Amino acid sequence: MTGNDGHDDKMHEECGVFGIWNHADAAAVTALGLHALQHRGQEATGIVSFDGQRFHSHKALGLVGDNFSEAKVIASLPGMRALGHNRYATTGDTVLRNVQPLYADFEFGGLAVAHNGNLTNATALRRALVRRGCLFQSTTDSEVFIHLIAISLYSTVVDRLIDALKQVIGAYSLIAMSDGALMGVRDPLGVRPLILGRLPPTEGNGGWVLASETCALDIVGAEFVRDVEPGEIVVITDQGVQSIKPFGKSASRFCVFEYIYFARPDSVVEGMPVYAARKRIGAQLARESHVAADVIVPVPDSGVPAAMGYATESAIPFELGIIRNHYVGRTFIEPTDSIRHLGVKLKHSANKPMLEGKRVILVDDSIVRGTTSRKIVEMVRHAGAAEVHMRISSPPTTYSCFYGIDTPERGKLLAASHTVEEMAELIGADSLAFISLDGLYEALNKGPRNDARPQYCDACFTGDYPISLPDMIDNDTRQLSLLTESR
Ligand code: 5GP
Ligand code: MG
Repeated sequence: MTGNDGHDDKMHEECGVFGIWNHADAAAVTALGLHALQHRGQEATGIVSFDGQRFHSHKALGLVGDNFSEAKVIASLPGMRALGHNRYATTGDTVLRNVQPLYADFEFGGLAVAHNGNLTNATALRRALVRRGCLFQSTTDSEVFIHLIAISLYSTVVDRLIDALKQVIGAYSLIAMSDGALMGVRDPLGVRPLILGRLPPTEGNGGWVLASETCALDIVGAEFVRDVEPGEIVVITDQGVQSIKPFGKSASRFCVFEYIYFARPDSVVEGMPVYAARKRIGAQLARESHVAADVIVPVPDSGVPAAMGYATESAIPFELGIIRNHYVGRTFIEPTDSIRHLGVKLKHSANKPMLEGKRVILVDDSIVRGTTSRKIVEMVRHAGAAEVHMRISSPPTTYSCFYGIDTPERGKLLAASHTVEEMAELIGADSLAFISLDGLYEALNKGPRNDARPQYCDACFTGDYPISLPDMIDNDTRQLSLLTESR
């Protein structure tokens, strides 16, 4: 699509958000929280602080550690409240104007917004807003919130926020900071995570934290209070935490891929430790698709907990047969296919003595384009493995995510157009197996999948999209026909 509404370079965003209320070192603590959430986005980072009078902002491309370690940067963000964001975008502008938190001045004061997820009617809303005279500064979905809040006829920030939320469709967790409050919101189905934490009351009332994952609490010394509920708005003020549920009741559809890959293994998500969940997924995978072998080797780092579960269940030794170089970013960071190929080689190397002459079972979390698996299998063979079997701790990724996980368009998903046997051949493995969908639900203690009311969003594996996709219908009928193609 072309036009001036900016959709062309809009991107799906995987992000991390962190907000803090009432802490003497709010900006420094936010930098620490963002550092713990670095896995959720590495492209850009930003912090907005509020000192009781004015908002201050520092945003930059790159990693948290590269941008927020200097004392003078932290000193430029005074105040007891702050809001931060890590951004990762697949396509589109890597430009500062897209870096969050976004900030705007309103007649009621200032408002900063940080958002994780993806709106599925952003294009339609953007077009309507542009027609009304709203001047967009960025190409991010999050700016839609800002304009909807600006034009709302309600008077209080919270009422305006609710008014805006009622118009957006999508998967989002967002934190907004106004002069008077820190607000956390999860979309009605709770697809993306958001948690509430509490700081010990060293001064006054103690403080509050909102963050994408619990791993951001530990680093700042905060205690987990609870998940923000699907469809809930928590409003943090000096009076405490108020809960508002403007959407009525709907059953939760948390993103199952957070358990498989995205969340950090030391996080507890919706009451379930991610590390233990991944080990159970690996054990289930072993029960479903075991094959005789000498050694279980994880594709590091994402395949490690599942491989441990697999090894325990199959009673085959677990070995680090592939070593990861930690000074290379995630493969997905690399923007082009050719660079991505290079990236995999930079990232992994074979630990030859653990592979030579052995029947190897490789365990990884997912196959998206197939680039990683192909390279890894080739590397393991090259190191002298007798057999290479690939086991994947997710079902085949056959559909794109429109809710904030970076899966490419369907045409690039290997599993969308190939059978498991064809994929095995393409990646050069002696055998390939994925965990079953019911097995995945089983491992998460929610199985088998209740097809009438699934407990998770698993659209990337099933094409069962729980949130409507107006922009798709609007803009890309070709993609829509791909979407509605029967499984
Ligand atoms: P492929 O190489 O098949 O395209 O991608 C699979 C690899 O990418 C897996 O090793 C997996 O750990 C990783 N991966 C899967 N999903 C995502 C994602 O959404 N973001 C990033 N950064 N990496 C991913
Ligand atoms: Mg991986």
